[in-house]
Amino acid sequence: MFEKALPLLESHFGYSAFRNGQEQAIRSVLAGSNTICVMPTGGGKSICYQIPALVLPGTTIVISPLISLMKDQVDALIQAGIPAAFINSSLSYNEANERIRDAKQGKYKLLYIAPERLDSYEFVEDLKNMDIPLVAVDEAHCISQWGHDFRPSYRHIQQMVKSLPQRPNVLALTATATPRVREDICHLLNIDERNTIITGFERENLSFSVIKGQDRQKFLLDYLKKNEQEAGIIYAATRKNVDQLYERLKKEKINVARYHAGMGDKDRAREQERFLEDKASVMVATSAFGMGIDKSNIRYVVHYQMPKNMESYYQEAGRAGRDGLDSECIMLYSPQDVQVQRFLIDQSSDRSRITQELEKLQQMADYCHTENCLQEFILKYFGETETDSCGRCGNCLDSRVSIDVTKEAQMVMSCVIRMGQRFGKNITAQVLTGSKNKKVTEMGFDRLTTYGIMKDQGAKEVSDFIEFLISQELIAIEHGQFPTIYVAPKGKDVLLGNEPVYRREAVKVKQVSKNDPLFEELRDVRRRIAETEKVPPFVIFSDAAIKDMCAKQPKTNEEFLQVSGVGEHKLKKYGLEFIQAIRAFLETNPEYQSEIQAEQAAPKKAAKKATVGETHLETLALNQKHLSKEEIAEQRELAVSTVESHLLQCAQQGLDVDFSRHVPNEYLPLLEKAVEEAGRERLKPIKELLPEEVSYFMIKVYVYFLSKKK
Ligand code: ADP
Ligand code: MG
Ligand code: ZN
Repeated sequence: MFEKALPLLESHFGYSAFRNGQEQAIRSVLAGSNTICVMPTGGGKSICYQIPALVLPGTTIVISPLISLMKDQVDALIQAGIPAAFINSSLSYNEANERIRDAKQGKYKLLYIAPERLDSYEFVEDLKNMDIPLVAVDEAHCISQWGHDFRPSYRHIQQMVKSLPQRPNVLALTATATPRVREDICHLLNIDERNTIITGFERENLSFSVIKGQDRQKFLLDYLKKNEQEAGIIYAATRKNVDQLYERLKKEKINVARYHAGMGDKDRAREQERFLEDKASVMVATSAFGMGIDKSNIRYVVHYQMPKNMESYYQEAGRAGRDGLDSECIMLYSPQDVQVQRFLIDQSSDRSRITQELEKLQQMADYCHTENCLQEFILKYFGETETDSCGRCGNCLDSRVSIDVTKEAQMVMSCVIRMGQRFGKNITAQVLTGSKNKKVTEMGFDRLTTYGIMKDQGAKEVSDFIEFLISQELIAIEHGQFPTIYVAPKGKDVLLGNEPVYRREAVKVKQVSKNDPLFEELRDVRRRIAETEKVPPFVIFSDAAIKDMCAKQPKTNEEFLQVSGVGEHKLKKYGLEFIQAIRAFLETNPEYQSEIQAEQAAPKKAAKKATVGETHLETLALNQKHLSKEEIAEQRELAVSTVESHLLQCAQQGLDVDFSRHVPNEYLPLLEKAVEEAGRERLKPIKELLPEEVSYFMIKVYVYFLSKKK
């Protein structure tokens, strides 16, 4: 049966080869074995049940923990031409019944359900009337109490499986399974542990770095400015941190959304949607955000505070770069974070686990301090033995020079001591720089010998330097009503002249991905299509697919099919529009030479047959029958935008197209004025001058007629 798998991968998903682990998992499932598949986030677990679902008869059931995300997953399948549906509490009673009826008639290849459905006796009875060859349990660690997202309803899966008249296969999938959790999963789902497919945990497209001893807010703002075009997540420790950062970023006119458990359900759902649909580029969130988020084009994950252990960190950071494109994971470290986490552990946990949790916290802090390869540190932590340095993390690439700052460090620390070790960082900096601030003089600090000894620097600069000394654990913080600083034991050695202090230059922010005007243009096209189709952009095409389009610059259907991520269904639906956009771009930008194309080393895939002929003529015929664009799209299973492209293509070939219904007369004067003002090289500036309801299509038609007139 496996021989059917690869052609299905090509035709539906547009990929030419299986990734590491996928083939083994699919073989195991198709051979009829219950299987557990452990792969890192972004490794491609979904394919491991989606392909078998296509090969096997009947309907595969997928248990998925988050109802808010099922819709995206199902939309993505429908976009690939695979009949699928979900059933969860977001549906009305009637809608759910309708889908159950359709499912019983075998209309779906995949049916996604929330685990809580299994609590319903009625629903399990319904399942007995379906033909179910496979049950896929996504995020399977939710079944284990030892995991971090225990969901009691997962415990009902096995009961359901046993009750079905034809015993289905079970496939469990997870990204984070310690041996103990894995054991639990196998035990509770009746999986033979020998059927474990586990791939390495390295993420070759992620580059990790830790930033310490630097002003984190400044770093973050610089970073966000530099990476404005890209989507990213910022994790903060508490709800309050999230709200504060959110307000701060909003003030900087950054397009930001937020998410934490203190917000109302509606609010949260709306913010999540804005982020998934690329309407907000930055998500500031607590760790409550993210499980099951399949948004593939997240280019960076910044931790504004250190999380409590490596498991959480790798899972959260791992949400970057699911599409396989280069992405960054940055930790903004400050020693205070360790104290905050220690406090939280002391407060909340079950006493028996405190020691273990403190140990994990220590390892998290070790990660922040290591000077060795960060990716390697992570892999070792998760038990991989044959590891090597990655060559792309902050430590592997660190070429900053170190400067001897022993003297400055001694100045700061002796000032701290003279001030009685009872004051905060900022006032200490003011004393050192000789500020005339009232508090400084009132306390008599202007009479200290250390007053003004660093006056060649600004107070902010000195305050940053103190932050650096804190990160080196030379100075420590006493948390009270106001945090105060004191000299730590390690600092005393420096004061005595026994230890030198070196400081590296500040890390400069990087741009995660290079600017590419064609890429931006095609992302615009994707955004427009996504809006009409009412799905998130990454469901139409991943950034990786768009990037491949920039590299291959396809001009025909055959060439478009060569793009990674383009299957036959998507070719038919969107091919024309992207090909036209690429063609138009290359005409107006003849100098554009894709760098990627220059270094195009990837071997070409075997040519595939295109299934699309003179398809625009079929559209024209329907248009002449006075069907609306929407009706044509529906009948031909095309995107409305493709129908529009077809009509334009016909007009360009000199065929007679009746556009009168598509561009209402009352808009003509507006269009004329907008084009006069914005020119006709680019559509976006024109669009911006017009009312919302004037679509890109209307503008294209108008511009087309103008060009014919002259
Ligand atoms: P996971 O569930 O393991 O986190 P996904 O199933 O969401 O990962 O897949 C991550 C990304 O990898 C998706 O964008 C998917 O389309 C892509 N992908 C999966 N398999 C392949 C493959 N064989 N070739 C190229 N891309 C793939
Ligand atoms: Mg997944
Ligand atoms: Zn490295």
